[in-house]
Amino acid sequence: MSDCLFCRIRDGQVPAKSVHRDEVCIAIEDINPQAPTHLLVIPLQHIPTLNDLTVEDRETVGHLATVAAKLAKERGHSESGYRLVMNCNRDAGQTVFHLHLHLLGGRPFGWPPG
Ligand code: 5GP
Ligand code: ZN
Repeated sequence: MSDCLFCRIRDGQVPAKSVHRDEVCIAIEDINPQAPTHLLVIPLQHIPTLNDLTVEDRETVGHLATVAAKLAKERGHSESGYRLVMNCNRDAGQTVFHLHLHLLGGRPFGWPPG
């Protein structure tokens, strides 16, 4: 989708600090980091929200989590811990309507979340 920010980043039309790319997803540094590590793991496929997932997307979503865990390990967060977040729609504060997994690490996180 040409009007989608993450599709444009995927296609190299908007610059981003890329940390990973494979046949299913990219991972980039968040432009407004909320923790020492704040990465976005983004499927190449344009899926607007979690509500749009179908059974065909199971492998894709599993892949996102696997890549996030690998990136967390590379950055030394495996033992201390880290958080994966997917926001869906207004109440969760979703602002970019192309599915993405936040990887947050490098500091303690409160629970329940705000
Ligand atoms: P959401 O609120 O939809 O779950 O997360 C969207 C995320 O995208 C936010 O954390 C925001 O900082 C990040 N973001 C918004 N615009 C850009 C951009 O142009 N480049 C990058 N790298 N991240 C962005
Ligand atoms: Zn998109």
